[in-house]
Amino acid sequence: MMMKSIDLKALDAEDTLNSLKKEFYQPDGVIYLDGNSLGMMPRIAAQRVQEVTRQQWGHDLITSWNKHQWIDLPQKVGDRIGGLIGAAPGQTVCCDSISVNLFKVLASALRLRPGKTKIVSTEDNFPTDLYMVQGLEALLGESQCHLKLVNEAELAQAIDEQTVAVLVTEVNFRTGRRLDIEELCAAAHNAGALCIVDLAHSTGVLPVALDNWQVDFAVGCTYKYLNGGPGAPAFVYAAKRHQHAMQQPLYGWMGHSNGFTFSPQYQPADSIQQMLVGTPAIIAMSAVDAALDVYDKTSISAIRQKSMKMTEVFLKLLALSAPCRELRCISPQAAEERGSQLSFEFDHAWGVCQALIKSDIIADFRAPCYLRFGFSPLYNSFQQLGEVVSELEQIMHEKRYLKPEFQTRHKVT
Ligand SMILES: *Cc1c(COP(=O)(O)O)cnc(C)c1O
Repeated sequence: MMMKSIDLKALDAEDTLNSLKKEFYQPDGVIYLDGNSLGMMPRIAAQRVQEVTRQQWGHDLITSWNKHQWIDLPQKVGDRIGGLIGAAPGQTVCCDSISVNLFKVLASALRLRPGKTKIVSTEDNFPTDLYMVQGLEALLGESQCHLKLVNEAELAQAIDEQTVAVLVTEVNFRTGRRLDIEELCAAAHNAGALCIVDLAHSTGVLPVALDNWQVDFAVGCTYKYLNGGPGAPAFVYAAKRHQHAMQQPLYGWMGHSNGFTFSPQYQPADSIQQMLVGTPAIIAMSAVDAALDVYDKTSISAIRQKSMKMTEVFLKLLALSAPCRELRCISPQAAEERGSQLSFEFDHAWGVCQALIKSDIIADFRAPCYLRFGFSPLYNSFQQLGEVVSELEQIMHEKRYLKPEFQTRHKVT
């Protein structure tokens, strides 16, 4: 077929990450381009969960908190994630969800900037990020906290002397557009505001440099590109310079300076530990810890290089296919300006996505009419991209997306 014009086999042969694919459990015949929603399962994560349940929980029971250092897992995993996002140790912990972590971070920011009230974010930020600000707005009253929404391009100029923080997601979940966090951070600091970054679509696939960029707070999840498993605990970063003054409002015993004194009086830990609230989800966090082992075998820069190449190749393959040209790419044309995803607008995007799934090609759909492909350099190959485009070409050519069986909507998209 036309795919022959790009030698995908050769690209796989020279790919230094190709050998990592075998670290992941591969369901028969499935091509998975949805690692930006739920990463594939690393074999080692499944093994670790078995070990943690059988030996540590089953046999060693409560002694495991000390014997297997369960109590230190949030910091240990946090520091390992920190290594992937340019954060020196002692600034990142693994806990809760992005949403809950954002609540802690936003409330901390409000307390660090008394008298200021405005949180600046973007209209098309991931909804939960905006909801968390709206929740604080309702709790504290609009005179204490209010959300100002602008376009991505207007962010820097929307930051003024009333601004507590700018809340941004580095990679837009719909378009895949990547924002310049370093620049935004500088703009925020110039106005005396803080910079809070959501790294949901960055962690594990983009070169993030939180310390160098002078980011104040960051959050991210572990179940997307990090492959930590469904609902795996998220992470939160607080720059060292804020850890003494910050006070997050979810006073939990795990965030106490010495929780095991069981004192009736809350005393926040003077460290990143303050971001912890309740008992850590050990089984889930162990899976994250194991999943991170795969990253020890490569580097973020190698991953980013392959990721950019993959999105470029995918676009070239689509351009060679006349029926696929009906799909309008809404992601930036330059690989540098996008994350590891490509999104396409098409009236029948839902039907296309369902038809692909029927052919064992997993992508996802985002309302109202976007077809989204996530590229995971750890387990996707160039030849898979050829297979996806040739199937997509047939679906588009036959208008298979119109079939009644592909119209049923599901609860989760
Ligand atoms: C996936 C995603 C989330 C998910 O938040 P949770 O609270 O962990 O469910 C948040 N923000 C962005 C930008 C995301 O892409």
